Amino acid sequence: MPARAMNAATTETPSTPLCWMDGRIAPAAEARVPVLDHGLLYGDGVFEGIRFHRGRPFALDAHLERLECSARAIGLTVPLPRPDIVHAVAALIAAFGDDDGYLRLVVTRGDGALGLDPRSCPTPRLFIVAGALRLVDAATRERGVRVIIAATRRLPPDGLDPRIKSLNYLNHVLARIEANAAGADEAILLNAAGRVAEGTADNIFIVRDGVLRTPPPIDGALAGITRAHIMALAQGAGMTVAETSLAPFDLYTCDECFLTGTGAELIPVASIDGRAPTHCPGPVFRSLRDAYHAAVRA
Ligand code: PMP
Repeated sequence: MPARAMNAATTETPSTPLCWMDGRIAPAAEARVPVLDHGLLYGDGVFEGIRFHRGRPFALDAHLERLECSARAIGLTVPLPRPDIVHAVAALIAAFGDDDGYLRLVVTRGDGALGLDPRSCPTPRLFIVAGALRLVDAATRERGVRVIIAATRRLPPDGLDPRIKSLNYLNHVLARIEANAAGADEAILLNAAGRVAEGTADNIFIVRDGVLRTPPPIDGALAGITRAHIMALAQGAGMTVAETSLAPFDLYTCDECFLTGTGAELIPVASIDGRAPTHCPGPVFRSLRDAYHAAVRA
């Protein structure tokens, strides 16, 4: 077991990323997955990204529920019962040492033959990585991100249901490459019908005429856990929340726009293809962000 490097709370130096696999915790840089794992060969697997705060995982039940649904939908057995995963997560966070961080929980089809038939993979593999994840710096988080609408489309839901959080992120990676090439911070993917789906690793919301709007999963949005929290908080505050199809026009003409995700947390959007929302960060964003941070702390 590695000694933790330093405590980020006091030194700003994040601890060394660690990996839990088969009941052992090792530095993530030393953890190995065999080349015949079908997660690597075919993207055959599912995953979750989970944050922990003050040493405790946030919304772990919701993440494990979604993981199990993703796995069931692709006919994959999560190889550990839920209480054992909870135990592994607790052990990993304790070993990592920092109070705050990010977990990547991955279940792959496991090792098999050089052919995609999953019947050659008798034993699914589960591993969990703990590390730091900061997607944008504090100044950008306050100023807002510039996003583009990518030419790369979200996979159609009749090809791959967007509620499955699978290891196949290639079109999201391609959209991200487009954002990088355009000098933008993030890309928004449309679905095949030209409706807004989501960001490369985050959900999108707009505010227009006091109504909070976000695309439904059938339009290509992951059923995000942060998204669900934000919708519940907004409803609790008396706002009208609409899960509704959005066109690029709706993004270009909104009052506010922001992104949500476990990694991203809540980030305001300063421009979409060069068009600025009326406010950034806007009053709805600020109040939801404050409420969300209070809920996370609680
Ligand atoms: N969409 C995609 C494609 C994602 O990868 C993520 C990150 N998990 C999200 C949305 C946001 O979901 P969540 O709030 O559950 O992290």
